[in-house]
Amino acid sequence: MSQSQQCRQILIVDDSPEDCVTIRRYLSRDQSMLYTIHEAHNGKQGLSLCQEVAFDCVLLDYNLPDMGGVVFLDRLHALLNQPFLPVVVLTGGGSEMAAVESMKSGALDYVLKKQLTPELLRHSIMNATEKMRMQQQVEAQRIELIRQRHAFQTLAENASDIISRFDPALRHLYVNPAVTKITGLPVEAFLNKTKREVGFPEDFCARWEKNLHEVFSTGKITQIEFNYSSPTGLRIFQAKLTPEFDSAGEVISVLSISRDVTELKETEAALRESDERLRLAFSAARMGTWDWNIKTGKDVWSEEMEALLGMAPGTFSGTYEAFCDLVHPDDRALVTALLQQALQQKSMFQADFRMLHADGSVRWLAARGHAFYDNEGHPVRMIGVDLDITERKQSEQRATERASELEAFFEAIGDGLFILDAQGNPVRLNRAARSLMGVSTGMLSERLSIPPPLFVDEQGRPLPDEQRPEARLLRGEHLAGPTAADMRLRRATGFEVELSVTGTPLLTEDGAVSGAIMVTHDVTRRRRLERRTHAALDALLMMAKSLISIEGPSVRTEQTEQTGRAVMQRLAELTCRVLDCEGALLFVLVPGTEKVEYSVGTGFDASLLSSLLNRVQGMSLTDLFQLAAVRQLREGGVVSLDVSQPSYHAYQLHPHLHRAILAPLCLQSALMGVVIVYPMDVYHRYLTEEVTLVAAVGQLAVLVIERERLLREREEARVRELTALETTRRIDDFIGIVSHELKSPLTAVRANVQLARRQLNRILSHQAELGSGAVPDIATIGNFLERAERQIMTQTRLVNDLVDSTRVRMEKLDLQVTRCDLRKVVQEAIEDQRQTSQKHAIQLRGTEGEVFVWADAQRVGQVVTNYLSNAIKYSDEDTMITVRLDRCDSAVRVSVCDQGPGLPLDVQQHIWDRFYRVPGVEVKSGTGVGLGLGLHICRTIIERQGGTVGVSSTLNQGSTFWFTLPLYANANELPSKQEHTSISN
Ligand code: ADP
Repeated sequence: MSQSQQCRQILIVDDSPEDCVTIRRYLSRDQSMLYTIHEAHNGKQGLSLCQEVAFDCVLLDYNLPDMGGVVFLDRLHALLNQPFLPVVVLTGGGSEMAAVESMKSGALDYVLKKQLTPELLRHSIMNATEKMRMQQQVEAQRIELIRQRHAFQTLAENASDIISRFDPALRHLYVNPAVTKITGLPVEAFLNKTKREVGFPEDFCARWEKNLHEVFSTGKITQIEFNYSSPTGLRIFQAKLTPEFDSAGEVISVLSISRDVTELKETEAALRESDERLRLAFSAARMGTWDWNIKTGKDVWSEEMEALLGMAPGTFSGTYEAFCDLVHPDDRALVTALLQQALQQKSMFQADFRMLHADGSVRWLAARGHAFYDNEGHPVRMIGVDLDITERKQSEQRATERASELEAFFEAIGDGLFILDAQGNPVRLNRAARSLMGVSTGMLSERLSIPPPLFVDEQGRPLPDEQRPEARLLRGEHLAGPTAADMRLRRATGFEVELSVTGTPLLTEDGAVSGAIMVTHDVTRRRRLERRTHAALDALLMMAKSLISIEGPSVRTEQTEQTGRAVMQRLAELTCRVLDCEGALLFVLVPGTEKVEYSVGTGFDASLLSSLLNRVQGMSLTDLFQLAAVRQLREGGVVSLDVSQPSYHAYQLHPHLHRAILAPLCLQSALMGVVIVYPMDVYHRYLTEEVTLVAAVGQLAVLVIERERLLREREEARVRELTALETTRRIDDFIGIVSHELKSPLTAVRANVQLARRQLNRILSHQAELGSGAVPDIATIGNFLERAERQIMTQTRLVNDLVDSTRVRMEKLDLQVTRCDLRKVVQEAIEDQRQTSQKHAIQLRGTEGEVFVWADAQRVGQVVTNYLSNAIKYSDEDTMITVRLDRCDSAVRVSVCDQGPGLPLDVQQHIWDRFYRVPGVEVKSGTGVGLGLGLHICRTIIERQGGTVGVSSTLNQGSTFWFTLPLYANANELPSKQEHTSISN
């Protein structure tokens, strides 16, 4: 058997052994086929074999002994329940009918035995088997078709898509139930109707019609998208229109599948939106993405990535090398190394590095990348994001700078700063705190635990734990301002420092105390100064009190001076206490000089001190100190002197003294004294407060000096006053004596002369009776008497002037003012003058009637008399003297006008002075005796009564002397209630 030979199982059902042999022989000749031949000699046997063996073909003799061929075929089909066993019927000669019957009963071929040839037999078998194969195929196709149709039906009936089929007239041939769900119309509403007929809107139908016609005419698949307002809302559909062809290639129908893509569209829109948002987020976050194909080296950047480096979209050339070029040269090696490391270790690529921006600036980027590997584990691709962290880096840099600034500040701060942990242990100390605690930087670097500060109370006992500032801080207390803790700290050296401790607790986010910052401010010096200042102020207060309480002595005694010294001594001691110095001296200067009047001191060996104080007495400051120093003191400056210099050896109070501070004691820029202090130690520098205190002490000292001086001057003034009073008393006595002693005899003489003259006048009037011989002698005696009387009057006037002038000078001129008629006063004075001198005509002019004034009538009369007597005295006989009385406003003016020599202007202002007489003025009448006092007294009398005096005169044209007095009506303010008032000084 060749390899190409096929095998066939053949059954021969024939009762003729010869025919069987022939058939076997014929079949054996077929080279292309190997036959396994079974034989059955009757129908029953044949059917039984068919049940046992799956034959490829049965050769059936039509005329079997037990049954006909048709019966056999029927039974065979019934037996196998399938018609797929090919049967070739062999019939005897001429039985065409049998052949037809056999074919009807399912035989596939027939052969007439007579015509049987090997070729024909082989052909028949082949034909029958081929037919059978085809029949089987058709059957299988039919079944498949049914199955497919069924499947389509199932699919279509259950599909959510709307499936419909249209005929060329665009009627619905089929539509699945999904249509009902969308349109609410039953399937039947669509069948054999166009969309228009179903009742869809015009534009909807037109669109469908156009597309369906197109598919029918072109035979090409088309897709359309349409909206449909369904009862559940507006839906979007996508329909695929597929042509269906007949065997001739004509489109006989169009199948449409419409899918509801509303959700898809919405999802797409949401996706687009989300993409956009992502893009925006990337851009806002200054983030870009990249995709690096490691195999090709292609590096794709997102637009945002390009934007990060200021590049226009699409301008990055897209290679790994181009990326490397954009990395800052200093960071390239690092970036490459980190990329390699990530690829090798298959780990995440992470790097912060700098890249070059298009504008030339440098940007910091944080890159994160994830690599993908092929089956062999080779990296093929890496995608990643870059985030612009320039601002973060810059703020980090600023923060670092700030941190180092703060660190420097922390270290440099003069107060001690302690950072405490949650247990109150110091974990960080600044330089000041380290020095306070005696902690070396070495200890810190070795991380040795720092002992807590040893806080003690005023008695040096350690503070109870709960009172320690650390404990208070950890309890959440803030120590500041009034709550700051004042305490002492005992240093490792044993010395104690006074501290003001402030601080604040450090809190975690949930408010728990995680530690504290404690600040110690060294107040030792300030406290010491405060104590000293308190003591000094107390002392100053006491001093000021004692100053006030010192009673001013009524009489200056030795004791007063001693008190002054004692006060100065106390000031010196106070200064010493205030400044905590070795000793202090106080030099008080003679006023207006720089000579030491006296000095006090304290703090040194008593005998040395008193010898020095004695020696400097009377010395000038410039003898004691250098000129520059004295000059500085004069200007109010404080001077520091090196007293160890040889020039000061003579005044050395103590061998260890090096320095002296000199402060001036000034009163209204006059140097009144100097305070000198000697500091305890050479290097001591006085604080401003201390210098201010010295200045205060100085001020007090100055006040003491000044007070002492004023007291002394007051005493002197009192003595002078007493002396003056005594003198005045004596003058008064003298005036009394003078006026009495001089005037009494004159009065007596005058009275006697007057009596004698009257007597004489009487005799003269009786001269006729007495005889004329004696008359001339008597007349002569009368003339003598008259002259004597004038002399006496002159004398009286002179004495009166002298007395008045003295009274004026001693301010003892008393005036007895009353309401009086000035006209009357003037008239009386004129009358008196007329009596005395008949050689001048005196006339009164001006206001008529009474003119009342508030005045001392006698004294005013004295003034008028003085004016008149001067007019008479200095003007030619027989000339007219005019007296005027004029009211003007609130005053009355009295003037005496003569035709005398007149007075030059320069003289007019002096004539009111005491003892002034115009030189060379000729006395025309009278004795000419005058003391130059009259006008002076006049002015005093008038001015004392509220009036004024004056003269108007032209040389050689006479003079007018005048005075005014306030009218009585205007003198209401004067004490007019009384009729009589005494005006005295
Ligand atoms: P005395 O007693 O000297 O007159 P007075 O004080 O009254 O003193 O006058 C001062 C001087 O003023 C006089 O010495 C005189 O020279 C001058 N004097 C006063 N009255 C007149 C007058 N009416 N005419 C010129 N000179 C006068």
